[in-house]
Amino acid sequence: MFNHIHEVALLKDERVYADEVENPITARRRLFQVERSSPIFVEIEQLFAQSWNRLEKYRPQVQFIFEVQWPEYALRPYFAYRAKVQASTHAKDQRGNEKFLFHGTNRACLLGESSSTVLLCGDKQCSLCSILRTSLAVSKCGTKNAFKRYGNGIYLTSCSSKADEYVSNLSRSASLRVMLINRAVIGNAYKTHRNAPQIAPLSQEYNSV
Ligand SMILES: [Zn+2]
Repeated sequence: MFNHIHEVALLKDERVYADEVENPITARRRLFQVERSSPIFVEIEQLFAQSWNRLEKYRPQVQFIFEVQWPEYALRPYFAYRAKVQASTHAKDQRGNEKFLFHGTNRACLLGESSSTVLLCGDKQCSLCSILRTSLAVSKCGTKNAFKRYGNGIYLTSCSSKADEYVSNLSRSASLRVMLINRAVIGNAYKTHRNAPQIAPLSQEYNSV
């Protein structure tokens, strides 16, 4: 179990990926189902279960896991940032303290409801598809909740039940809840147990909160 909730606001490396250069059909197809027997399924399912720390709230079963595939060029800035953080912080691992972190958001469509609903929708209200199309954006911070615990940034958490609080279905036909699990570079994290809405932008020595 995690000892403390580690909410992380990644404050740098905002990226927007243009879909226009891609085929519109393949651009909508980002999700590929992960086999239940594969090691990555087992790892993520375990992470989800172990980091669910609201005991009063029923922990859901993982129904499906989809891998989100990006074109290689879209991932390049992430790997470059990861290498930069690793070099500047002498992070413990070779990947700049890279971790899997959860993010909950709203979904207007039925993406991920079954193994065949895998095409991104074009509904402007669907934050999930918007994120899967263009990645998480610092500029979207605070559009849902005006209060920003650590100021402007991308909010991710190691705690699955915390992310679940931000999951919502706009469609009445939806029966499952969908959350994102993201690879995130933690680097040198500024640790605080208090709200710190004025903390951003962070000083040079830190990469996340
Ligand atoms: Zn959607």
